Amino acid sequence: MHIQIQADRCEGHGLCADTAPEVYALDDDAMVVLRHDPLPETLRAKAEAGARVCPVAALRVVG
Ligand code: SF4
Repeated sequence: MHIQIQADRCEGHGLCADTAPEVYALDDDAMVVLRHDPLPETLRAKAEAGARVCPVAALRVVG
């Protein structure tokens, strides 16, 4: 399982990292980064919850 990031959409709101800090973080430029790649199955629900709250739909869980 992977997470596709549309980096050009990310506005650094951080809602993904607030919702699922086990999966998402922000780098020094306030750009989303992944804590795991590939993502373990045990974090699927968290990954999807974080993707859902992104206000610009920059995150997609695939696989
Ligand atoms: S919620 Fe969306 S816009 Fe905000 S940091 Fe995460 S990916 Fe970027």
